[in-house]
Amino acid sequence: MNFELSENQKMFRDMVRDFAKQEIAPIAHQMDEEGTMPDELITKMAANGFFGLSFPEQYGGLGVDTITYGLVIEELAKVSAGVCVMLTVHNSVGSYPLAMYGSEEAKEKYLPRMASGEIAAFCITEPGAGSDAANLTATATQDGDEYVLNGSKIFVTNGSRASFYVVMARTPGTTGHKDIHAFIIERGTSGLSVAKKEDKMGLRASDTVSIDLEDVRIPANNLLGNEGDGFKIAMSALDGGRIGIAFQSLGIGYACLAESVKYSKVREQFGKPLAKQPVIGGMIADMGCELDSARLLALQAAWLKDEGKPFTKQAAMAKVMASEAAGRAADRAVQIHGGYGYCKEFAVERYYRDVRVTRIYEGTSEIQRMVISRQVMNEY
Ligand SMILES: Cc1cc2nc3c(=O)[nH]c(=O)nc-3n(C[C@H](O)[C@H](O)[C@H](O)COP(=O)(O)OP(=O)(O)OC[C@H]3O[C@@H](n4cnc5c(N)ncnc54)[C@H](O)[C@@H]3O)c2cc1C
Repeated sequence: MNFELSENQKMFRDMVRDFAKQEIAPIAHQMDEEGTMPDELITKMAANGFFGLSFPEQYGGLGVDTITYGLVIEELAKVSAGVCVMLTVHNSVGSYPLAMYGSEEAKEKYLPRMASGEIAAFCITEPGAGSDAANLTATATQDGDEYVLNGSKIFVTNGSRASFYVVMARTPGTTGHKDIHAFIIERGTSGLSVAKKEDKMGLRASDTVSIDLEDVRIPANNLLGNEGDGFKIAMSALDGGRIGIAFQSLGIGYACLAESVKYSKVREQFGKPLAKQPVIGGMIADMGCELDSARLLALQAAWLKDEGKPFTKQAAMAKVMASEAAGRAADRAVQIHGGYGYCKEFAVERYYRDVRVTRIYEGTSEIQRMVISRQVMNEY
């Protein structure tokens, strides 16, 4: 067993760390305040290959392994979880369904554009279908060599600036997961419109919107996989996506740890720095223990995926453990900063808000525990 990262993985991580420090950190607070992300930043990230991280080089991607991908996500989350989620959704659930299940023609047409910075979004959630995603009601009706889609999707990350939408819809009149199909739709297709933008607690640099589909006509070739594969495609995309969310959580958690150590060394009470007070030291030790153990699970899940081995259980475990450890780390970080931790001048206030959603999206902690318990029950 070898716990060392390869030279390539370290080089990539360091490159992204430098980029994040120089280009993202100086504007992270402002993006959160204004609820925006500058186009210029997206252009710079695209020039560095960030939009084609995991899809094949033949389509303009970098084709990095999942561990490298996780390291990238972690470094971005340390400075801006909002920028991070835009990229992780694009690189996982937004583009993976096309890269894995798209026709050759669709891949050649769309993947190079995605790699060059045209953003992808993933649309499964609906007002009546959240955790129970198979309950979705958006419809897709075949009409000659086209499909016609109708329905509404909510909570679509990247929805207002995306060029591509992966959309799950079912044959009218059906229920359950078997008659769900997956499609890719280009922005500008008649009938697809961006509706409400959510005013969120955190991840404010990232846009989250509703999408309305009204008689949206798309070529039959934009079907991903075969008819009826939609739910399977969504679930396999989410399996990989959860590894990304685990690393995103870790990035936020380690940023909280770093800020806590820094602050506790300079803030003095009772005649000595907080860092020398045993109770504070214990809090820092707990943050380190919990984050490091969750990180091992996240790395294991990424490794299993790279080896082509089953990774559903480890991805779910990594997401639960990392998101919950990071949530506790953010809570402790605010506590260590005292009253200042409650004020926007200190980054921990933003981390505290940003981290909360990692226990909710791409499957809540409760849903992950259902996935894990099913697997564990079969094993023992
Ligand atoms: C910022 C943000 C970005 C998002 N981005 C996207 C995106 O890009 N694309 C997309 O499709 N979706 C996206 N989502 C949606 C997200 O995946 C859902 O919010 C999530 O899956 C939960 O669904 P829900 O909100 O409908 O909650 P519900 O399913 O209504 O759940 C409410 C609560 O009940 C619990 N619960 C539900 N069922 C059970 C059960 N059987 N046993 C125990 N507890 C249960 C849940 O865990 C939760 O605590 C996003 C959400 C947010 C907040």
